[in-house]
Amino acid sequence: MIYMRDKRAIIIKSPKLQKIRNNLRNLIIQAYHTQWKEIHDKWRSFLVDSEGRRLSIRDFSPDVLEEFRDLQEKESQLSDSLDRSILMCVACGKADRDVVYNKAYDAWYCTECYGLERLTALERAKAWKKGAKSCEEQAIEDHSKTFL
Ligand SMILES: [Zn+2]
Repeated sequence: MIYMRDKRAIIIKSPKLQKIRNNLRNLIIQAYHTQWKEIHDKWRSFLVDSEGRRLSIRDFSPDVLEEFRDLQEKESQLSDSLDRSILMCVACGKADRDVVYNKAYDAWYCTECYGLERLTALERAKAWKKGAKSCEEQAIEDHSKTFL
């Protein structure tokens, strides 16, 4: 098991190394897209019969429905694994940036998005010290605290 600290920044200063990192990230992301499209096209094909008529999941046998749901689950897991990977920022989706890990969300943020979240969190923390909070405000505060 990989142990990950609560906050960890991966900063690469060398332009040459940044280019290598970005190229590797893009290769992996392209492989992800290829695999995602295969899975997506396969479960989508279940929705059309051999004569081109549109089908509903109500038309599926239990075995076909299980395979259909398994494919959708694989697609969802694949998407989630990319969203939470070090390959790209979970907030803006950019793949050419230095990143910071936020353990509370098990996700990587680019340094710009992380900085904005942190700045906002600091401003909210000051404002909330002054008064009572609603449930929504408490949820936002809990989110913000993960960036402090
Ligand atoms: Zn970002």
